[in-house]
Amino acid sequence: IYIITRKLNLIRDKNYINGEWVSAGSSQQFDVYNPADGSVIGKVPDVDAKDAKKAVAAAARAFETWKEIVPKKRTKLLKKWFSLLNKYKKEMANILTRESGKPLPESIGEVIYGNSYLEWFSEQILHIRGEIIPSDSTRKLLIEHHPIGVVVIITPWNFPYSMIARKMSAALAVGCTCVIKPSEETPLVALAMAKIAQKSGIPKGVINIITCSKRNAPSVGNLLCTSPLVSGVSFTGSTQVGKIIYKQCSKGVKRLALELGGNAPFIVFNSADVNSAIDGAMEAKFRNCGQTCVAANRFLIQDGVFEEFVCKMVKEVERLKIGNGLNEGVNIGPLINEAHLKKVTELMEDARCKGAKLLTGGKQLEKLGKLFFQPAVVTGVKNNMRLYTEEIFGPIVGVIKFETEEDCVRISNGTNYGLASYLFSKDVQQIFRVARKLEAGMVGVNECRAFPVETPFGGIKESGFGREGSHHGVLEYTYIKYTCLGDL
Ligand code: ADP
Repeated sequence: IYIITRKLNLIRDKNYINGEWVSAGSSQQFDVYNPADGSVIGKVPDVDAKDAKKAVAAAARAFETWKEIVPKKRTKLLKKWFSLLNKYKKEMANILTRESGKPLPESIGEVIYGNSYLEWFSEQILHIRGEIIPSDSTRKLLIEHHPIGVVVIITPWNFPYSMIARKMSAALAVGCTCVIKPSEETPLVALAMAKIAQKSGIPKGVINIITCSKRNAPSVGNLLCTSPLVSGVSFTGSTQVGKIIYKQCSKGVKRLALELGGNAPFIVFNSADVNSAIDGAMEAKFRNCGQTCVAANRFLIQDGVFEEFVCKMVKEVERLKIGNGLNEGVNIGPLINEAHLKKVTELMEDARCKGAKLLTGGKQLEKLGKLFFQPAVVTGVKNNMRLYTEEIFGPIVGVIKFETEEDCVRISNGTNYGLASYLFSKDVQQIFRVARKLEAGMVGVNECRAFPVETPFGGIKESGFGREGSHHGVLEYTYIKYTCLGDL
C-alpha cells in the first residue's frame, strides 16, 4: 500500500487550487503526525487568508461554468470520481488510519460510507424537479432550484474523509463549487481525494483544498466566512467554533449548515433485549475510540436491567483490543492529540472526585504510546459531573440509573445539545411515546447504525441546524427561484 500511495503520489505536500498543486504564498508548512506513535507522516502548506482568497476566487470563476453543465454530465463526472475513489479505498483507508489513529477496518468503512454519498448525490440531482403552480391562462408561475454558488466546507478530524465527501458531493451535484478546509490534524486524506478528483477529470476550480495550522485557522476561517464571493458555509466541528462561524456568516447573511457537538443519551428500558443493547452500546460508544459527535454520551439504564447491563458492559469493554490501528484485531486506537487526552483524563478525574464509581479502565496506557486511554465504565454519574454535561469524545461509558420513563425523558433532554439519541425497548407504545419526546435530530430505536446515506443527518438546539444526506441534503445547497411569466 505504501508503494501504491507513493506511485500515485497520494500523499501530497501541496494544496489544490484551481486545478494546480501549490504551496502557501509564505512557503510555510506544518507537520502531520500519526497519533499512534507520534511520527511525522507528512508536511502540508500552512496557508493564510491571502491564499484562501485565491482559492475562493478560483471557485467563483469555476462556478460560472459548472452550474451551467447539464446535471447528467455532472453525474457522469462524479460517478467517475466515485469509482476511482472506490478503486483506491485501501490506500485512502491507510492514510486515514495513519493520520487519525482509527482502526483500519473502521477507516475502510468510512471510505465506503463517504463514497456512498458521492454515488447517492450524483443520482439525486437527476431527480430534482421544479414546479408549475396553477394559475389563470395568462400567467405561468414557475419554481426552480438553483445552486447557491461557492460553498465553504470546514471539517473536523474525527471523520476526515466522510465529512468532506458528504458535504462536497451534495454541493457539487447541484452545481455549486467548493473551497474545503480540512482539520489541521487530518489534512492528508483530503488532499488525496483531490488527487483522485484531478485524475477523474473534475474541472479546475470546482474543488479547491486548502490546509492551515491551528494558529492560522481563525484568520483563514474569517476570510472564508466573510468573503462576498462565498454563498454558503457547511461546518462540522465543535459548538464553540460553530458559534464563531455563525457570527461571522451573519455579516454577509450567508447560507449556513452547522453540525456541532452532541451529548447523546443511550436509554435501556426494562423491557429491552439487553444483549442487543450491549451490541448497540459497543458500536455507539467505541467507534473511533468514542470520538464521534453521535457517540453515546450518557447511558441511562432502568433499574430492572441495571445490574445485568453494567456487568455485561464491563465484560465487553475488557475484551477490547487497544493499539495501533494498522495492527490486526485492534478495536481501539489512540486519542487524537495531547490536549484531547488531557480533557478526557480530567473528565474522568472530575467524576471520581464527585463520587462516581470506576468499574474498569480509565487510565492512560503509556506502554502503548502517549495517546492511549483505557476504555472505562463508570456508574453513579450525576448532573454536576462533566461526564454528564459535556461531550466526552472518548472511550468512557458513564452510567446513570433511572426508575421512571418521566425521569428518563427529563434526564435525556437535560442538555443544550440535540443530535443523536438511542433507545432500547420492546414496548411499542413506549418506543413511540419516548422517541417523540426526545429532543434530538436523530433517534435510533433498538439500532445504533442508524445513519445511512438516504437519511437526513443533523441536530437541533446547540447541536446545530441543516441536514446532510437524503433528498433533503441537496436542497441545502440550492435556493428557490420563483418566476412569474405574465402576458401570455
Ligand atoms: P475539533 O476539535 O472537533 O476538530 P474544532 O471546532 O476545533 O473541532 O475544529 C473543526 C474545524 O474548524 C477544523 O478544521 C479547525 O481547523 C477549524 N477551526 C478552528 N478554529 C476555527 C475558526 N476560528 N474559524 C474557522 N475554522 C476554525
